[in-house]
Amino acid sequence: MKIAVDLHIHSALSPCADDDMTPNNIVNMAILKGLDAIAVTDHNSCDNVQAVMNVADGRILVLPGMEVQTKEDVHLLCYFEDIEGLLDFDACIRHFMPQVPNVPHLFGNQYIMDQNDQIIGERKELLLSSLDLSVEQIVQLVIQRGGVVVPAHIDRPSYSIISQLGFIPPNLGFNVLEFLKFDTNYTIYYQGYKHIYSSDAHQLGQILEREMLIDIYNVSLTDIIQWLKGFTVI
Ligand SMILES: [Zn+2]
Ligand SMILES: [Zn+2]
Repeated sequence: MKIAVDLHIHSALSPCADDDMTPNNIVNMAILKGLDAIAVTDHNSCDNVQAVMNVADGRILVLPGMEVQTKEDVHLLCYFEDIEGLLDFDACIRHFMPQVPNVPHLFGNQYIMDQNDQIIGERKELLLSSLDLSVEQIVQLVIQRGGVVVPAHIDRPSYSIISQLGFIPPNLGFNVLEFLKFDTNYTIYYQGYKHIYSSDAHQLGQILEREMLIDIYNVSLTDIIQWLKGFTVI
């Protein structure tokens, strides 16, 4: 069956995202737009994912995820089948985060929220930083936890694997590439990969409509992860 997804959405934890990207607003907007599955992928962090999953409560699938910035300034989307895998990954990468303090009035707030959209904390270090981990190291850490990595917005002129490395490393097992726009003049250069389109929403209105459909057998996190790993799910 075909399900509509938007697997790249930022919450109020990302300094560059609006403060009204709260767990309830994100889930309700995604349901309003008719989506079947979403992922909240904040920069180098995942403190709001559990609250989003609690709010969703079975009404829409929430794939645990994070958008990591590697030491090469490459953005990678890291997805896990369960919250435990994501939290374990998060605990690991925190050791490689530069301890540069956030300046909220310059970069924005980094709010941690509960399932009632109450602010319960704030990340103090600037999350818009490059981890001291390479693309290859991130891939290894994610795979060790059963997850899957998707290079983010490869059609963007900055912070993409193409803008930073100039090519897709063939030995890292990437199966799916993310684009911000479906432009066949561009995607044609990346045959042999599955292509996914996401909003990279930093504002509520940017969340996708039912425009990116993936074909899976069961509406489940397992099947979405398998699809992202390149398997045909039957
Ligand atoms: Zn990005
Ligand atoms: Zn993003």
